[in-house]
Amino acid sequence: MMFDKLVIATGNFGKYKEFDEIIKSSSKDFADEIIFAPEISKLTVEETGKSYSENAMLKARTWAKQSGLPCLADDSGLEVEALDGAPGLYSSRIVMGKDCDKVSWLLSNLKGIENRKARFAASVALCVPDEYILICEGFCYGKIAEAPEGSNGFGYDPVFIPEGYEKTFAKLNPDIKNSISHRTNAFRKISNLLLRQKEHTHS
Ligand code: IMP
Repeated sequence: MMFDKLVIATGNFGKYKEFDEIIKSSSKDFADEIIFAPEISKLTVEETGKSYSENAMLKARTWAKQSGLPCLADDSGLEVEALDGAPGLYSSRIVMGKDCDKVSWLLSNLKGIENRKARFAASVALCVPDEYILICEGFCYGKIAEAPEGSNGFGYDPVFIPEGYEKTFAKLNPDIKNSISHRTNAFRKISNLLLRQKEHTHS
C-alpha cells in the first residue's frame, strides 16, 4: 500500500466522494483509508493563488502541515471558449449562492451564442509532510448544454456534455464521469509517477 491514510483536502463532499471513487478504481494499492478533511479539522484555506496549481498546492500543504498526514487537494474550474475562458479560476465564486445560481449565470451569458465549446481543468496536488509535493494537471473537453439536465455530481455538471457523449455529466452514470474527468486525468498522472518511482527504487 502506498499510504495507510490519505486526507482529501476539501470541504466539498461531492469532490471527496469523486476522489474516493477515482482512487479506488484507479489503483487498489494507493490508500487504505481515505479521509474527508472536515472529519479531522475545521481548518479552512483561503484560495489566494493566481492559478489552479498554486491553490491546489496551498490546500495540500496547509492540510498536510495541520494533520501530519499525506494530503491530496485539487483546484479546478470550467473554461468556456466563447467567454474567453471564464468562469475559470473563479468557477465557485463567480456568483454567490448555490450551484444552480452559477449554472443560471453561465446559461444567461451564453444565450444566443452558438459556440458552446468548454473544458474542465484541474490541478491535483499530493503533499507528503516533510518529504515532497507533487502536482499534475488534467482536462476534460466538451460543450455546454442549452438547459440543465440530471441530478448527479455537483457544480456545472448539469450543463456539461463531455466529448463523445450526448448527455450531461449530471445525467451520465457517475462511473463514466470518473473514468474521463479532469480530476481523474490529473490523479492518474500522480499515481503513475509514484508507481514508476516505487518500481525504480525496488529494481
Ligand atoms: P474549487 O476547485 O473547489 O475551487 O472549485 C471549483 C469549482 O469549479 C466548483 O465549485 C465547481 O463550480 C466547478 N467545478 C470543478 N470541477 C467540477 C466538476 O467536476 N463538475 C462540475 N463543476 C466543477
